[in-house]
Amino acid sequence: MAIPVFSHPDCLAHDPGPGHPETPARLAAVLARLRVEPSARLVEAPPGDRDALRRVHPEAHLAELEELSRAGGGSVSLDTCANGASWAAVLGATGALAAAIEAAHAGGTHSFAAVRPPGHHALANRAMGFCLVNNVVVGAREAQRLGRDRILIIDWDVHHGNGTQALVEADPTVRYVSLHQHPWYPGTGLAEERGVGNIFNVPRGPGAPADRYVEDLWSAIVAATDRWVPDLVLLSAGYDALAGDPLGGFTLEPADLAGLTERLRERLPMVPIVGVLEGGYRPARVAEGVAATVRALA
Ligand SMILES: [Zn+2]
Repeated sequence: MAIPVFSHPDCLAHDPGPGHPETPARLAAVLARLRVEPSARLVEAPPGDRDALRRVHPEAHLAELEELSRAGGGSVSLDTCANGASWAAVLGATGALAAAIEAAHAGGTHSFAAVRPPGHHALANRAMGFCLVNNVVVGAREAQRLGRDRILIIDWDVHHGNGTQALVEADPTVRYVSLHQHPWYPGTGLAEERGVGNIFNVPRGPGAPADRYVEDLWSAIVAATDRWVPDLVLLSAGYDALAGDPLGGFTLEPADLAGLTERLRERLPMVPIVGVLEGGYRPARVAEGVAATVRALA
């Protein structure tokens, strides 16, 4: 059965500038691929609302992003830029994510949010690492608002989701499992960083066989779900963990991530899974990665 994949056209209009790796071509490639993928049903979501963002970010941070965008854009930090469409893209991504969670919550289906900019580096009051707001944590809070109390976030982006960890590390209702390259940007994500026992970091060097990354991440997922069954799983699905990505040194293939997704479904058979696009900087590879993940969810 095809699963719904939600997106919003404004997510294509955010542009951090010429030569920037987080290009609109990434999402364009994903959407083009999904249009011919039988296991995906593409759905345009309505834009999200500010209240969903306010559950994670202070109003000052949101107002700053909105104002920067209204002024035509500019640098937020060294590597993170906005243009005139970035605030609309943030709302579009929020809407797509909310629709994906609603489909999973009420519709009993796995789903995927094909959005940008990515989110897992964004802190409560600081945009960084190409991320303006933290999509996956906004999604976690939305799911909790709907009554899904325990949320498991699995992050296979090649970079550590420092923003996600910072936003949930004091909250035992959310567990965060991350496989990431280390040492690497942004420098966080040591195994000793355990939060309140809810953080499961798997830092690994580059260039290992793909099976090692898969088995080590799987062990962390098993540890995180030992006598703790989540009500919803969010995948921080970054495809810069695939072999050949310009911003990472991991060796994974789309089939590895699909295999992980299938194992996750077997381990947690009654739990809806919502994928959220994070990084991945070779557009054709990102498209194949998302398609493989969606096939595994369908
Ligand atoms: Zn990344």
